[in-house]
Amino acid sequence: LPEQEAFDIEYWLLEEAKLQRMPKPKSLAGRVAFVTGGAGGIGTATAARYLTDGACVMLADINEDSLKATSDHLVQRFGADVVRTVVMDVTNEQAVAAAYADTAVEFGGVDILVSNAGIASSAPVEETSLDLWNKNMDILSTGYFLVSREAFKMLRAQNIGGSIIFVASKNGLAASPNATAYCTAKAAEIHLARCLALEGAEAGIRVNVVNPDAVLRGSKIWEGEWLEQRAGTYGTDKDGLEEMYRQRSLLKRSVLPEDIAEAAYFFAADTSAKSTGNILNVDAGNVQAFTR
Ligand code: NAD
Repeated sequence: LPEQEAFDIEYWLLEEAKLQRMPKPKSLAGRVAFVTGGAGGIGTATAARYLTDGACVMLADINEDSLKATSDHLVQRFGADVVRTVVMDVTNEQAVAAAYADTAVEFGGVDILVSNAGIASSAPVEETSLDLWNKNMDILSTGYFLVSREAFKMLRAQNIGGSIIFVASKNGLAASPNATAYCTAKAAEIHLARCLALEGAEAGIRVNVVNPDAVLRGSKIWEGEWLEQRAGTYGTDKDGLEEMYRQRSLLKRSVLPEDIAEAAYFFAADTSAKSTGNILNVDAGNVQAFTR
């Protein structure tokens, strides 16, 4: 064989041997996932991803109607035994504790938390009322703290480790126009995850962050004030904005709820057993494109 071809074959054999030694992806069979904002676009896609791999899912959301519609859809697809719902406000300490207690009754415990419930708000800083600021902090930062604290209690008591995934935002790393309260609250989520990763490591509790860029499809955030404000800044409508984000990204791809779900699956599964305190931007390269 010519030298180059011989080299290629050896290289391939080496790669193949490496692949054989790598742990195979394990399913989530027997695991229980608690998903906040489970009735929203990203939460529903993540729940469906976990259910596909054999997990049981507790969908927790403040919106009872959306929760019912989402649950009906998932039950139809995956069966009634593996899906439960709880109406819960992430800012309500007692409601959060009660929702975990419900999950223990229904499924015997919790292995995975996806902290994802959120809102978005848009206002220049001079027009950001204290109420608006507090709302962002309450739902995004404090809400993430409360659901994580209850998860820690349950995971420690079970003593079998666990995985916590924060759906934060690229806006927690980079500023976005007229969204100071949102961006600051998202930054706090990311730092909370780092602190929890440190605290949980000894008990095998991993904490990682998925940072979506704009996910317009399926998201209720992009239906109200946030959309109007962004449209004013950048474009004209939801489709126009999605196209703008796509064009702006390095990969020229739109980010979909399923893309976030796949990243959240990676951090839930054992293939990420050696990752904690990590941040994965799912942004089609948008962050890099923007900062070039
Ligand atoms: P979505 O509005 O479709 O879903 C959010 C869900 O959270 C809704 O079902 C809502 O009812 C629920 N929720 C809101 N406040 C709550 C509360 N106090 N208690 C319990 N549930 C509450 O939005 P999404 O796009 O699926 O967003 C999910 C997460 O992803 C949010 O944290 C959001 O900030 C983040 N994110 C979204 C985007 C995007 O472009 N869609 C980008 C970056 C980050």
